[in-house]
Amino acid sequence: MKLSGKIAVVTGASKGIGAGIARALGDAGATVIVNYASSKDDADEVVSLIQSKGGKARAIQADMSKSADITRMFEAIRDDFGTLDILVNNAGVAVFQMIEDLTEEAFHQQFNLNVLGYLLATREALKHFGTLGSIINISSILSTDPYLASSVYSATKGAVDTLTFALSRELGPRGIRVNSILPGHTNTPGTSGNFAGTLGEKLIAGTPLGRFGEPEDIAPVVVFLASDDAHWVTGESIRVSGGVRGVGY
Ligand code: NAP
Repeated sequence: MKLSGKIAVVTGASKGIGAGIARALGDAGATVIVNYASSKDDADEVVSLIQSKGGKARAIQADMSKSADITRMFEAIRDDFGTLDILVNNAGVAVFQMIEDLTEEAFHQQFNLNVLGYLLATREALKHFGTLGSIINISSILSTDPYLASSVYSATKGAVDTLTFALSRELGPRGIRVNSILPGHTNTPGTSGNFAGTLGEKLIAGTPLGRFGEPEDIAPVVVFLASDDAHWVTGESIRVSGGVRGVGY
């Protein structure tokens, strides 16, 4: 129970990696705010799972690409819990398009959620942090190792790693640590179908540990970064990928 007494927010926690992180933070003793955009039933189920193990959790709807929603969510957290210790920026979207097919709409959709959303959530969360805190940004191995047709998505994740480093410098003097995690290919509702067939076989062949990741593979590293065990770790981008390097697809 290394996060006992801590208040944590996980964005995009109704499904996939975010849901896995929320459950693990709850298991570690944190009170967890399970953010979602539209999947209320899924978010409520994550809350129920945490509560069924004796933990505390609450679901809050907010579109993390919209400034007004983000402000409303953090004000609700302040009203209910008074303070905040851990922010996990996870809500993200991927649109895979070759450059010939690039649309401004897809660019803004991805940058508004994956980059601006992380920055706005950080700005609002900081109003409620105490003297110590941990921010964990979910990036991707594509930040350094882009797939074909992923120029915009990979660029958003490169931006996440850069803003993580920049904010670690800015917030270190306040006792707030900022790190990013780069998951590899991970089975989630968002990737279902993407990893089928020959591509899937190639991705597994390029993974030293020989399989796709699961949200449960990512979550323990988030718990570590959120905890005091990582008190001397900030500004880092940590690959959690089964060892994938140089995908080249
Ligand atoms: P996913 O299965 O598609 O789930 C996305 C989650 O984000 C859902 O809970 C969804 O909530 C929420 N969400 C989507 N748009 C939102 C918005 N505008 N505001 C608030 N919440 C929103 O995604 P995932 O595969 O778990 O990916 C999670 C993160 O990991 C992303 O940042 C992704 O880039 C990163 N990542 C994933 C992989 C992978 O292989 N899966 C690899 C590297 C990095 P609703 O259902 O309510 O819309």
